[in-house]
Amino acid sequence: EEGDDPPMPRHRVTTKGSNVPEHVDSFQALHERYNLSKRLLTNLAESGYKRPTGIQSHGIPILMESRDLAAISPTGTGKTLSYLLPVMAALGAPSASSKGETGSGVRALILAPTRELSHQIHNECLKLAQGRKWRVVLFSKATANTLADKNVRDKVDIVISTPLRLVAALQAGHIELENVRHLVLDEADRMLDAEFLSQVQEIIAACTHPNLQKAVFSATLPAGAEKIAMGMLRDPIRVVVGLKDT
Ligand code: ADP
Ligand code: MG
Repeated sequence: EEGDDPPMPRHRVTTKGSNVPEHVDSFQALHERYNLSKRLLTNLAESGYKRPTGIQSHGIPILMESRDLAAISPTGTGKTLSYLLPVMAALGAPSASSKGETGSGVRALILAPTRELSHQIHNECLKLAQGRKWRVVLFSKATANTLADKNVRDKVDIVISTPLRLVAALQAGHIELENVRHLVLDEADRMLDAEFLSQVQEIIAACTHPNLQKAVFSATLPAGAEKIAMGMLRDPIRVVVGLKDT
């Protein structure tokens, strides 16, 4: 019974930017407005997601309209799905089928500061990918080695990695990023701090596709990191979610 669910906490959402797409009040609305596949709707339902959180209801339409996004929303508000769903919706056919609507090879790249976080993102991605033959790779020493084989890596659709691991693969010539259309920095406050910034910049420089969409997600974005983020994004929309009673 939908009505018996404890509601997600209510949030106040503010948006800033040009031509901000209308938010959605349901996942079904994404099917009606953007033709989000029935398969993805089913996978959402099977994950127990009944309605979008604030960042999802505002962020998903922005990403589905191919806009760059800086999203700031508290921990636990479902930021992961906010970027994974648009990525999966945009990918179309898996690379392995060589009928990908957006070409083949790595087309989406998600960067996170820790291995543990990458792991959680990977799990969420696998839930959403149920029933589709997308190849989602969580970068580790072992997977990085298998990607040394170009035949293997040409069939990969989505890569989830920490910056250091990916830079190592780039430098070894074990990965190409020129087909990447979706780049996400999760926990962007950390990704843009001194520890990771130069690695992140090196990765962005390797994502040479002219239609590269970039998004940054974070619970907080200090002024310095925000300035760097805004400089990286193209005509960005900024969405800030705050707890209503704070
Ligand atoms: P954040 O990255 O903002 O900290 P997560 O993406 O890790 O949040 O999500 C927090 C939890 O909420 C996860 O367990 C996730 O499965 C769950 N979740 C995400 N979206 C929804 C939704 N629309 N409805 C119910 N649960 C959700
Ligand atoms: Mg998160």
